[in-house]
Amino acid sequence: MKKKITVIVSLLVLGFVVSACSVSGQKTGNNKLKVVVTNSIIADITKNIAGDKIDLHSIVPVGKDPHEYEPLPEDIQKAAEADLIFYNGMNLETGGNAWFRKLINNTGKKKNHDYCAVSEGIKPIYLEGASGQGKVDPHAWLSLANGIAYAENICRQLSAKDSSNKAYYNEQCKAYIAKLEKLDQEAKEKLAAIARDKRLVVTSEGCLKYFSQAYDLPSAYIWEINTEEEGTPDQIRSLVERLKEQPPSALFVESSVDSRPMETVAKESGIPIYAKLFTDSVAEKGKAGDSYYAMMKWNIDKIAAGLSQ
Ligand SMILES: [Zn+2]
Repeated sequence: MKKKITVIVSLLVLGFVVSACSVSGQKTGNNKLKVVVTNSIIADITKNIAGDKIDLHSIVPVGKDPHEYEPLPEDIQKAAEADLIFYNGMNLETGGNAWFRKLINNTGKKKNHDYCAVSEGIKPIYLEGASGQGKVDPHAWLSLANGIAYAENICRQLSAKDSSNKAYYNEQCKAYIAKLEKLDQEAKEKLAAIARDKRLVVTSEGCLKYFSQAYDLPSAYIWEINTEEEGTPDQIRSLVERLKEQPPSALFVESSVDSRPMETVAKESGIPIYAKLFTDSVAEKGKAGDSYYAMMKWNIDKIAAGLSQ
């Protein structure tokens, strides 16, 4: 009998240890879940789901290029202390100088446990240029259907780490997705109305592949991705040549890149730059486009208006 009790106690102790392991990383006491994200777009989607239930730190500042970045000591410290880290993946922070991989290597965090790609499950589109060589284009969020997948991934991971707020996260996420779905529908209608011979959207970086696929709107660019040379004379010449075939009524430039190469394209092609788009970052707080929803709405409205002239 005594032996049996010992076995039961041992099993109970073992059970406690096992469950203690499986909940490691859960928030404790009144402390909020510490979440670190790599850029302002992921930060905004996360905020829409988590509200004030988490402590959030976003690494790449608003308006800056998320492809190439040098983490600050504060970023490294926050990442080391984080319960959960969200990154885009798909060759964004993990492409070029792979700043995110270097950051994570210094923290001892585990993939898919401590840090997760918000793009998980999204069908990739590959880079087309010689520099691409089978590499994925990272700009999946520029299709609202993919933005919805980001929200679902973020909600699932938050709920797994912080089950006490699961109902809240799910409710917020559902309402947020409904809002994005409505905008997606609006985008399809507005962009479908652009005349056949005006349907080319031109940006500096070739960031619109997912957008083009989602809204059946071809796109062209000066350089394909920010991790390659940006705005060389050859790249500019080749775009200007292409624009002669079927000139759109407007060009666009992104908030997070140098606008000078596109200004040269405008001068040489005679096609004006119509507006700034928000592609790799949301706008500064308080300005138009300062959330994922608002930047997508801004982009859709500006592209529809600019190409319908
Ligand atoms: Zn980009």
